[in-house]
Amino acid sequence: MIKTKIVVTVGPACDSVQAVAELISSGADVLRINFSHGDHSQHLGFLQAVRTAAESHPASHALMGDLCGPKIRLAPFPGQPRPLQPDQELIFAAQAEANDPNVFATTYPDLIDSIRPGDRLLINDGKIATVVTSKSAGAFRCLSKSTGLLKSGQGVNLPDTDIAAPSLTPKDLEDLDWAVKNELDYLALSFVRSADDIVGARDRLRAAGSDIKLIAKIEKPQALDDLDAIIAVADAVLVARGDLGAEIELARVPLVQKDIIRRCQSAGKPVIVATQMLASMISAQTPTRAEVSDVANAIFDQADAVMLSGETAIGANPAAAVRTIENIARVSEEFQDKHPSAAPGLDLDLLPRSQAALAHGVHRIAQQARCSLVVVWSESGGTAGLISKTRIGVPIIALSSNPAVCRRMALQYGVIPYLMDLPPSSKELLSVIDKLAPQNGWAKTGETIVVVTGHPLGTPTTTDTIHLHCLGYTKSP
Ligand code: PEP
Repeated sequence: MIKTKIVVTVGPACDSVQAVAELISSGADVLRINFSHGDHSQHLGFLQAVRTAAESHPASHALMGDLCGPKIRLAPFPGQPRPLQPDQELIFAAQAEANDPNVFATTYPDLIDSIRPGDRLLINDGKIATVVTSKSAGAFRCLSKSTGLLKSGQGVNLPDTDIAAPSLTPKDLEDLDWAVKNELDYLALSFVRSADDIVGARDRLRAAGSDIKLIAKIEKPQALDDLDAIIAVADAVLVARGDLGAEIELARVPLVQKDIIRRCQSAGKPVIVATQMLASMISAQTPTRAEVSDVANAIFDQADAVMLSGETAIGANPAAAVRTIENIARVSEEFQDKHPSAAPGLDLDLLPRSQAALAHGVHRIAQQARCSLVVVWSESGGTAGLISKTRIGVPIIALSSNPAVCRRMALQYGVIPYLMDLPPSSKELLSVIDKLAPQNGWAKTGETIVVVTGHPLGTPTTTDTIHLHCLGYTKSP
């Protein structure tokens, strides 16, 4: 079992129970529904396929919804795609013109209020570059710097413009309600600009009675200016390299990726590296050498999870892409186990004091006593998550009686969630572990393990006890 978690996007290429079951048996831990594509009836089909496939698998799997956020696109225009040449002028008005192939519109009509001459307007993931030259009542003009083909619906990025659009669009609010109704485990927020965006979304979820965990997608330069505050309030972070690579200089993406991973590591938050990890496998049987190195380097840098998007949603062989990324993670982790790096760990001063002390204590005790396993009783997944971020180097079995907590912990590096009934006491729990650990191949009788519990067992936020336990030797009460 690998420690790195694999997030897999579902889509038309894997829209049956059988196809999703193959993704899961190939190594998927978290299944992502991208609200940028399809409608709620299609999303419901994916959700049902994931839930049915996950039921017949012993491990827990999380469902993530990815909200589109204020993504701006070229508004639909009549006729064929329109070719573009360098130095050609484009006019952005309230509506695209059928009679003038140079007049376009975007899906954000208020853009005219925020945009300024000199701002870059990039189309189709930054492949087509234009610069705003002038602005007049109701329209602005851009000069193309590229050759390309403009198509309705292509994404528009504005790295220099402060957009006033709300962080949750009317469509996001509908998708958020759908996610609440269907009890998704995680919601990713796109185009996060500040910590307030996360706080606002969480307020909405709370008002709807939901505890869905929030993932901040980092893809805007403004988010980089508020990064520590965003990490502090988010439950997890996603390095969204697709839009990030259009919003900042492409050559800076690897540096920003490393910085985000390092800061998440200090703050004890899971971090996912996403986009184009095995992009060539959308059509090819095998990845490129560069893609293999990219995945391995994200793991060496201490990403908790890696994500597949088009490779699985629309790819020729989604399960092969999952098996490939799983194998790269396995080989990378074998290397890491043999050559542990001195990479910076948790910054204990950033964390709640007693939780940090506990996680640090578990790590030191497990190392010193050469333990082969850590078992934690988990009410919310919080302690298991922090122990995971200490990079303890042995499997962390997170026991819980709450299926939603088990599903959520599927994103935590090195954590194996296990659903079971709540035993009456810690002593009973130790004797259950005595049986479960050898039965499941987690550790052998006679090995020393660490067990982390709370008192009374089963009460949230009471985790306070570290047992150094010889497996199979629970003293009778
Ligand atoms: C990205 O931009 O890298 C990303 C993951 O977001 P999306 O798939 O919504 O473009």
